[in-house]
Amino acid sequence: EAARAHPEKWPEAGSPSAMTDAQTEAFITELMGRMTLEEKVGQTIQADISAIKPEDLLTYPLGSILAGGNSSPGGNERASAQEWVQLARDFRAAAEARPGARVPLIYGIDAVHGHNNVVGATIFPHNIGLGAARNPELIRQIGEATAIEVAVTGADWTFGPTLAVPRDDRWGRAYEGYGEDPEIAQSYAGPMTLGLQGELRSGQRIQPGRIAGSAKHFLADGGTTGGKDQGDFAGTERELIETHLSGYPEAIDAGVLSIMASFSSWNGIKHSGNETILTGVLRGPLGFNGFVVSDWNAHGQLPGCSNESCPLAFNAGIDMLMAPDSWKPLYENTLAQVRSGEIPMARLDEAVRRILRVKVKTGLFDDDRTYEGRVELLGSPEHRALARRAVRESLVLLKNEGSVLPIRAGARILVAGAADDIGQASGGWTITWQGTGNSRADFPNGQSIWEGLKEAVEAGGGQATFSADGSYTDRPDVAIVVFGETPYAEFQGDIETLDFGPQEPLEMLRRFKAAGIPTVAVFLSGRPLWTNPEINASDAFVAAWLPGTEGGGIADVLIGDVEGRPRHDFRGTLSFSWPKTAVGEPLNRGQPGYDPQFAYGYGLSYARPASVGTLSEVSGVAEVVSSIDRYFVDGRFVAPWSLMLRDDGGEFRLGLESQGRSPRGAVSARSGDGQAQESARILSFDVPSGQTAHALIAAAPVDLTRQANGEMAIAFRYRVDARPTGTVRLTLGD
Ligand code: BGC
Repeated sequence: EAARAHPEKWPEAGSPSAMTDAQTEAFITELMGRMTLEEKVGQTIQADISAIKPEDLLTYPLGSILAGGNSSPGGNERASAQEWVQLARDFRAAAEARPGARVPLIYGIDAVHGHNNVVGATIFPHNIGLGAARNPELIRQIGEATAIEVAVTGADWTFGPTLAVPRDDRWGRAYEGYGEDPEIAQSYAGPMTLGLQGELRSGQRIQPGRIAGSAKHFLADGGTTGGKDQGDFAGTERELIETHLSGYPEAIDAGVLSIMASFSSWNGIKHSGNETILTGVLRGPLGFNGFVVSDWNAHGQLPGCSNESCPLAFNAGIDMLMAPDSWKPLYENTLAQVRSGEIPMARLDEAVRRILRVKVKTGLFDDDRTYEGRVELLGSPEHRALARRAVRESLVLLKNEGSVLPIRAGARILVAGAADDIGQASGGWTITWQGTGNSRADFPNGQSIWEGLKEAVEAGGGQATFSADGSYTDRPDVAIVVFGETPYAEFQGDIETLDFGPQEPLEMLRRFKAAGIPTVAVFLSGRPLWTNPEINASDAFVAAWLPGTEGGGIADVLIGDVEGRPRHDFRGTLSFSWPKTAVGEPLNRGQPGYDPQFAYGYGLSYARPASVGTLSEVSGVAEVVSSIDRYFVDGRFVAPWSLMLRDDGGEFRLGLESQGRSPRGAVSARSGDGQAQESARILSFDVPSGQTAHALIAAAPVDLTRQANGEMAIAFRYRVDARPTGTVRLTLGD
């Protein structure tokens, strides 16, 4: 009964909503009154499990540990779930055994696409794929499932959601962002936070099976010049706010308990030492009252600082310093800096109060670990089914000539390339930091793309053969070639050009084409890449991103029934523009000169087939369709609209905002480059229940339809004769 050992337990223990925020603050004041200076400083230092032993906590009163991307119990990346549980227990027990004020440890881990450090966990698609799904309710459920799997292993906190808006796909972390346009991070930040943490209204604490989140990396991590990891953002304040900040208010509104400062800089000033950003902006207009954690030794990059010492970061507003291996000297030096006044006592107290507040909210003082040790929940059938659905929804169909897809379940298929490699399909941040070196055995609960395809085809009486190099003896009806990027993480994934590169897949596709075998390309990647030759050499081309352990989701969509009717349609639309050339700076929706091969929002489906011919014939005026489904978040009506946009003219921007459930709203158009003021072209409309209303924005008809099932759908057709450059924002009011 470790819980009982806490002298700081609430009088109302077991009733998480019993203490008001005011009572919590009083509790913290009382606790801080009993803490020594050492204990306070210790709260602000976080060590990595690879460089600290549980026994160290008997001497050093540290407040937090993390398991970074390359860290695992005993340094064994293939450690069992039980060993992960034991690790958490050992550290907690040591922290509790130290004489003095008892403050529970907070233990964080990068569960960024499921509990990805742990063998056997459900690996969800990386955020880039989730962005393509445009489904916030799905995101909330993924947050919930991830939290449960993390709680099983005894960790309290994940370093996510990543709210980066990657503006240059050459960045090695592009796949950690939901999309190049802020609207997706904006619509996902709240649901992901709620999924991970649950609702945290005043006085409420995280319930068992939920964990604390950390929105990252604050700020503009996705805006660095050339997409350089940890680089510099050279944009304007307006861009900083409108593009890169946009998800944070939503996460904060949903109660996100911590925020991680970015390694990157703005006009040369590193965010981890930027008081204006960390304190001015975050604590001022954003009203954040959780704590700010720095990134891995990021403080060591600040002027006048080293990994061992950095009063600058602390004074600028970092509340907890992530000092993986340098925690001991950093602790000693920070202590000395507080004693000398270099770090004001008030600043230390402020940081400690924030950390304790989060620890209270995270339920750490209650120490109810209902889920801990329930290792059967890792990779549970429910979580896998959710991940499989996420895979289905994340797929973007870029080409389907001759309707080669869906494939009849009775067909003879040949599956080639990386189809049996779950490690490649999972990308970076999977078991290891870089995601490399994983074998099939590292995914005991998963299903490879090949296994999923085989199961689906054989269920319909068809035949499936796998050959990595594409060789065959019996001529197949269809060939499916799975290929793409091999795993990478962070700066190791930075690239110079968007050229996909390897020639073998292209040669394989061309061999099938020459043999007259209809060929489907399934492209695995952490970003859109220039793949025109591969697209031209295949009949169908599917952007599958980094789908994770549930490869069966791909078969769900690619393989139809015995008569060749689809079982699931494609629903994904591009959350990143697909480049038309490999060279030069990738442009994003709305930027001057934007001329992608496939625009942001593009995605074909069986219901919306469109042949684009060979790419040399495509002028960029292809159909552009974006859909956002209605969804609820914890009973709150968030976006009741289904929205479809067909752009016959060229580039466009579209934002969706909604607050209420009443079918009433306003459409406003902004002109110019999106930075101009709202134009006068504002239109309001009311839609009586059960009826259809038509309204016009300039020459564009807007159709609103309430469907038989009670759902609202908007078919929003934006037709223009001239090339549109304006911003259209759909605002739904109460
Ligand atoms: C990454 C963070 C991550 C941290 C802890 C850093 O290198 O930038 O995203 O949360 O490591 O593993």
